[in-house]
Amino acid sequence: MELKTVLSAIDGYREEMVRTLVEFCRIPALDPASGGEGELKKTEWLQRKLQSYGFGFERHDAKDERVPSGIRPNLILRRGEGDKRLWILSHVDVVPPGNLKEWPCDPFDPMVKDGKVYGRGVEDNGQACVASLFALKALRDLAVEPAKPLIVAWVADEETGSYYGAQHLIREGLVEKGDWVVCPDWGTAKGAEIEVAEKNLLWMKFTLHGKQAHGSRPDKAINAHRAGADLIGRMDKALHQKFRARDSMFVPPFSTFEPTKKESNVPNVNTIPGEDIFCFDCRILPRYRNQDVLAIVNQQVKAVQKQHRVDIDLDVIQNESSPPTSPKAPVVAALAKALKIVRKVEPKAVGIGGGTVAAYFRRAGVDSVVWATGDETAHTVNEHIKIDNMVADSKVFAAMMLTS
Ligand SMILES: [Zn+2]
Repeated sequence: MELKTVLSAIDGYREEMVRTLVEFCRIPALDPASGGEGELKKTEWLQRKLQSYGFGFERHDAKDERVPSGIRPNLILRRGEGDKRLWILSHVDVVPPGNLKEWPCDPFDPMVKDGKVYGRGVEDNGQACVASLFALKALRDLAVEPAKPLIVAWVADEETGSYYGAQHLIREGLVEKGDWVVCPDWGTAKGAEIEVAEKNLLWMKFTLHGKQAHGSRPDKAINAHRAGADLIGRMDKALHQKFRARDSMFVPPFSTFEPTKKESNVPNVNTIPGEDIFCFDCRILPRYRNQDVLAIVNQQVKAVQKQHRVDIDLDVIQNESSPPTSPKAPVVAALAKALKIVRKVEPKAVGIGGGTVAAYFRRAGVDSVVWATGDETAHTVNEHIKIDNMVADSKVFAAMMLTS
């Protein structure tokens, strides 16, 4: 069976893919942390779809008492036996819609217009959920076996940390060293960027305790806000100076250290604040270790405590890193080959600012890439996909399944 025949079968599914995406995304699947019921209804809908196409499947559910069903469902479908499997893993859950008035449609009743589909979850991660399903359908309809054993997964809980989703599959031992994992959960407009690495995440919260007093009596006060401002300035300078390597694989090509959230202190102008609270969001090139960044932070904290006579509490809110997948890894080469065939692009391996589901696989020693084609509208009130991209991504998956 020629690859060309498989790819043109996928072209023939176009309308059915759009209907599938629209119906799939009508079912909200919000995480309990966002006040939702979880993914069960949406996953069961997908399961019925698989059954209607004659596919068998497995469920690997995680227990979660915060949702009415008590279950966070993970659905997987296998083709072929043996090790060194190709995984295509997308997620079913979505983020809240945000301000409904700003949407061009009801976010949970997707709108098809001018070759695009609008709605919550169509890009993140509906396009991939549907594209991977129809790649499988093409192989099945044409009775073609994949070149490599295959696992297609539709998982829960990507948006709030993957504990009940991808991490559950890893804990259950379903993912093996030597597997390749493609997570189609981020991408650029031409589909020519393959994410192989991410920056380390380090999020910190600083609480400075001084002494409150009347605005006219700084002699009686310890101004926590001035100390906080000094600490921000010192960290900004020290961290940028110490960790200044550049790496053109990343966008932007350097480590970032940003003061972000600031909690309000006193409500009036004429009180000197006795407390100051702010946060830093650091995204650090993986060549550095977070503990070395924290050492510099602690030096600055000590200096400010001494100089301003304040006490400072440092809470590390997030501290994560994962080893990159080599740009020369076979999964990267296989995806690049499929992209050359289907999209006629010369893809490039890139690094991004962190927080993808691929990091869990990389930490488990499994090569993993993040790739899809899209306009980066995830989490916005204008979330949409281009139907052409959904069809082309499905062809890329099929080409990967057949040529790897
Ligand atoms: Zn996503």
